[in-house]
Amino acid sequence: MRKIIHIDMDAFFAAVEQRDHPEYRGKAIAVGGLPGSRGVVATCSYEARKYGVHSAMASSLAVKLCPHLIFVRGNYEAYREASAIIRRIFLEYTDLVEPVSIDEAYLDVTVNKKNNPSATRLAAEIRQKIKAETQLTASAGVSYCKFLAKIASDLEKPDGLVVIPPQKALDILSKLPIGKFHGIGKATEEKMKQLGINNGADLRSWELQPLLKRFGKAGQYYYNIVRGIDERQVVTSRIRKSISMERTFSDDIDDLETLKEYLSTIAEKLAQKMNEKGFKALTLTVKLKYSNFEIVQRSCSAKRAFDENNIISSQAKCLLEEFYDRQRSVRLVGIGLSSLVWKDVKISKQMTMPFYEDSQYIKISNNDKIF
Ligand SMILES: [Mg+2]
Repeated sequence: MRKIIHIDMDAFFAAVEQRDHPEYRGKAIAVGGLPGSRGVVATCSYEARKYGVHSAMASSLAVKLCPHLIFVRGNYEAYREASAIIRRIFLEYTDLVEPVSIDEAYLDVTVNKKNNPSATRLAAEIRQKIKAETQLTASAGVSYCKFLAKIASDLEKPDGLVVIPPQKALDILSKLPIGKFHGIGKATEEKMKQLGINNGADLRSWELQPLLKRFGKAGQYYYNIVRGIDERQVVTSRIRKSISMERTFSDDIDDLETLKEYLSTIAEKLAQKMNEKGFKALTLTVKLKYSNFEIVQRSCSAKRAFDENNIISSQAKCLLEEFYDRQRSVRLVGIGLSSLVWKDVKISKQMTMPFYEDSQYIKISNNDKIF
């Protein structure tokens, strides 16, 4: 049986801000875009969550729910620094570390560098070490597969440690609200609720065939996870290949300046996403879909990586000017960022990037499909 730990920092960006700025402690704060600027909340403190504020919420709505909410621009340097420390701690225990984002990772400790058979003790130790070295709290989940480890780390947040042994898995999954299943997004949650599936027990009462019929391939995944079956390995070299965003218009657009404005908006959102994940990109692609549904796209590679809003935005606009056929109207624009690497990684001349604490390398290919 495998032993998997999922570690997730608690309200990571907000916790770093409260650590570094005593005046924010005990206060409702949000890291992210300001309310006036169509910004969204990246992370908020637990004091703010009490008011219903959560990440990805429009900042303008957040401030309505919690009028005394303090907005903080965010010191991504400090977040990356803390992230590097926790990654180093993980590697003291195992090389089988799969970073999910800047503040979250899976560790396979079935065999570990401490020769400790108790994943629970290891998780406790890792949490203590993180606390000692960063003054931040992490929640940990321990189980025999990734899915359950992730569920577990969420159960007693913040500062929690939850173990789900095999004999308890089905019981915990039965009671779990369907929206809490990792991999079931908002739209699927709604669809399931309409089918009377409100929790794990409801989902488990469905046979495989009807699930496949309603949800396609994903049906198999739902069928498995609700039975505590998840064979996915902890993969050290995993990094998202790309991040992209696109916008479809209700009325086709044939004006260059208007298209550029849309690209700016998309660039702003993408830049924020990149910052949250701690990535920068080496390749940028602009995609257009003309009114006859023909899709054209053009890419460029960076001398300086794409991470800041203004670089993404100006480069995307340049590309658009190069290849947009001004005689034609457009029904969709998008920007994709690919060949992603960690922000704190220096770009070497060869197209091979150290991705993870110098121990893993990923090959950058220029023809990654990104849309
Ligand atoms: Mg977190």
